[in-house]
Amino acid sequence: MNTTLIQTTTAFFEKAFGSTPEKVVLSPGRINIIGEHIDYNDGYVLPAAIDKVICFAFEKNNTTKSRIIAIDLNEEFEVDLTKKILLSDVVWTNYILGVIKQLQDNGFLFEGFNCVFSSNIPIGSGLSSSAALECGMIFGIKEVFDLTIEKKDIALLGQKAEHWVGVNCGIMDQFSSVHGLENKVIKLDCNTLEFEYHNADFKDYSVVLFDSNVKHSLFTSEYNTRRNECEEGLSIIKKHFPEIKSFRDCSEDQLLSIKDEMNTTIFKRIYYVIKEISRVNRACEALDNGNIKLLGQLLFETHEGLSKEYEVSCNELDMLVDTAKEDNSIIGSRMMGGGFGGCTINFIKKGHENDVKNKFSFHYLNTFGINLKFYDIKISNGTQLNTTKN
Ligand code: ADP
Ligand code: MG
Repeated sequence: MNTTLIQTTTAFFEKAFGSTPEKVVLSPGRINIIGEHIDYNDGYVLPAAIDKVICFAFEKNNTTKSRIIAIDLNEEFEVDLTKKILLSDVVWTNYILGVIKQLQDNGFLFEGFNCVFSSNIPIGSGLSSSAALECGMIFGIKEVFDLTIEKKDIALLGQKAEHWVGVNCGIMDQFSSVHGLENKVIKLDCNTLEFEYHNADFKDYSVVLFDSNVKHSLFTSEYNTRRNECEEGLSIIKKHFPEIKSFRDCSEDQLLSIKDEMNTTIFKRIYYVIKEISRVNRACEALDNGNIKLLGQLLFETHEGLSKEYEVSCNELDMLVDTAKEDNSIIGSRMMGGGFGGCTINFIKKGHENDVKNKFSFHYLNTFGINLKFYDIKISNGTQLNTTKN
């Protein structure tokens, strides 16, 4: 599938600029297997880069201006690199302006370039097309102008660019887009950026995302509320157990012993966090042991927690996961991402994918009047060079 994308992007570049691109770069979206809403609660996440990518073609143009074409949107823009970089009204250009600004602010020297890009990552469905865009642009500029930028710094610069655009994201998306490896998941500590790879051989099971096609507007306000609730919960834990520095140090038993010291909402939130931190560790063990059924069970448990304790799910997502629980071909399912819409991630017995898709499409349309979309996912390499002109 990516071969066609590379061909069309390269052909578009040749037509637009009359030359063969110097560098072709692929930058992937990501999934997160487990570890939801704990990146900002001292937990680990378990993301992986996927085989859906943005393809970029680049060349230097020996001027001080850059011309960038978004094939999918049929739009282009030009930026003068000698002028102060300011936010524009066109959202997609801001991610690129943000990246250019971060590189300049951090002292990287580069001149004008031409770039076209096109993608098969669904936009705005929680697969992090924005991180793929940032990291691919940085990688391409690095390649064209021979800059030395470590992978970790590509991720951090990408994250800063996204903050500049106005999205206060964590580091997981950019980190996994850059550090992805085929058939590996990344256990990442979002605080220290320490990470380790675990095998992601899902054996007899395929990973399929179900896109609910809904996005409820609750996300931002509820996200802020959850952050405050968790902070309050942690301070109560610390009062009773001064040796505890973060949720990571707190056992379930310790929390249960002080349950009456906090209101039920706070208790539910942090009970979820502590259990989810432990689930990520158990998920890694399950992967190391090739126990995909156990991994699937942990996904179901995570969803239950996100729905009933952390309360960031919605009817559509709950229905998809409840239906999956009843289906013998699905061994694990949960909402993925911030919640209130977006995708569920599902582990489906190989050979049963089409039956499952047909059944869920029909049921979902009947219940909500909305079309369900499906993305088949393979775990793949991070941001990389595809071809170099001789
Ligand atoms: P997600 O990262 O979950 O896909 P976001 O809202 O964070 O969703 O980022 C999507 C934004 O990234 C789009 O609105 C657009 O500005 C930019 N973007 C992503 N893919 C493309 C693309 N193929 N062409 C142009 N802009 C894109
Ligand atoms: Mg995004």
